[in-house]
Amino acid sequence: MTTTPKRLGLKERYAMMTRGLGWETSYQPMDKVFPYDQFEGIRIHDWDRWEDPFRLTMDAYWKFQGEKEKKLYAIIDAFQQNNGQFNVSDPRYLNTLKLFLTGVSPLEYAAHRGYAMAGRSLRGVGARVACQMQSIDELRHCQTQFHTISHFNKYFHGLHDPQHMHDRVWYLSVPKSYFEDAMSAGPFEFITAISFSFEYVLTNLLFMPFMSGAAYNGDMATVTFGFSAQSDESRHMTLGLEVVKFILEQDPDNVPIVQKWVDKWFWRGYRLLTLVAMMMDYMLPKRVMSWQEAWEMYFEKNGGALFQDLARYGIRMPKYHEVATKEKSRLSHEAWAIFNNYGHAANINVWVPQPDEMTWLSEKYPETFDRLYRPRFEWLAQQERQGKRWFNNTLPMLCQTCQIPMAFTEPDDPTKICYRESTYHGMKHHFCSDGCKDIFDGEPEKYVQAWLPVHQIYQGNCFPEGTDPTVEGFNPLAAVLQYYHIEPGVDSGEFNSSPDRANWERWTGQDLQPKAA
Ligand code: FE
Ligand code: ZN
Repeated sequence: MTTTPKRLGLKERYAMMTRGLGWETSYQPMDKVFPYDQFEGIRIHDWDRWEDPFRLTMDAYWKFQGEKEKKLYAIIDAFQQNNGQFNVSDPRYLNTLKLFLTGVSPLEYAAHRGYAMAGRSLRGVGARVACQMQSIDELRHCQTQFHTISHFNKYFHGLHDPQHMHDRVWYLSVPKSYFEDAMSAGPFEFITAISFSFEYVLTNLLFMPFMSGAAYNGDMATVTFGFSAQSDESRHMTLGLEVVKFILEQDPDNVPIVQKWVDKWFWRGYRLLTLVAMMMDYMLPKRVMSWQEAWEMYFEKNGGALFQDLARYGIRMPKYHEVATKEKSRLSHEAWAIFNNYGHAANINVWVPQPDEMTWLSEKYPETFDRLYRPRFEWLAQQERQGKRWFNNTLPMLCQTCQIPMAFTEPDDPTKICYRESTYHGMKHHFCSDGCKDIFDGEPEKYVQAWLPVHQIYQGNCFPEGTDPTVEGFNPLAAVLQYYHIEPGVDSGEFNSSPDRANWERWTGQDLQPKAA
């Protein structure tokens, strides 16, 4: 007798390929197999109520991703064949790619690891499959970004050692510590931090500037990997919202825990975006929009609507969102000032905005730019014209939580540095804001362990192995840059005197003069 095998419907097939793959363990108790999904206090009563946000089986996933990969690599190939690197608006644009490759791409890799860990830790099969897929997405993002940007590495400086720099360079400890904070939390906090607070609430403020920025500035290679990641990002955003709703619906006791995480990760994410604010207002030769405009559109308007929606679960706007809004006309200026102080020790070139760029800044920031920031840049430009390009040779105090130099100002006074402190076990710790102080005070035992770059330099931990700092004429800055794999004045320092600029003029025949304001 012959039988025709029954073809499964899409829904049944999907169920078989996801939830059908899980089982109750019998050799070991489930609590021993999944030891990390209880200690955070989150109560899940019924994992079956989890709505799979992706509705993708693994075989369909590989097929989709394979198609996207083929298109992406064809375009990267064409970009390289056609010397696409010379079509960018201005060689200063490359510095945004340096920032991206050393500050963001390693976070994609960290996300790959983080989601693999979260997936392993959650006992709900639907959530595990979603985490597993996102984990593979993130690995792909890291790889496609490295592959795309590696082409620029043949022509421009500062792109040669992104992961090494990510783990060491002073300001890259800001993104690094952000992600490691999430990865070293429990699985529910990790997924709330990254999937919800970052990918759902704040992601537009990261990807829009970099991808639209690439498009505006003629970098079609970066635009393409951005597009290729977009459909993944929309899945990630769905996961972010689903996971938070699911946790909130499972038990009323989960609400205050989630609110605390939303507060914490909003502030950490917002502080991390300082780098993006600076990139939008100062580093993109052709601007997309100002940080202030982006904040108004993507946070005040869209974020406001989202939190109105979440009010029925008992979730309110993240704490200190009003401080972030007060800072919207200052954030990028304060950040670029830090980089103009310490650009000699960064893996990017820095510069004073050109006269037409200052005009744009005055128009976009009528209340703050001319009054508070223009004079500083004009002074820097004057120093440069006199051949005395100024950099700061002392090291700044860092915020113990966000690890950014203490250069932010009081919410109600943009002329006064904001300074907070807490004492823990007899030791004083410093913070840039009430937001960062609150986070520390909530888990001091975690944040006292922070690897603060400035402390580490002063303790002698940031010199190449075998360095003897007691020898006559020892130059600590030179040793630190060696440890970072940064060549001073080449990978770092003033753009106008950089080899990237000189090479660009030589290769393209363009004359970039006059540059200094
Ligand atoms: Fe990603
Ligand atoms: Zn801080």
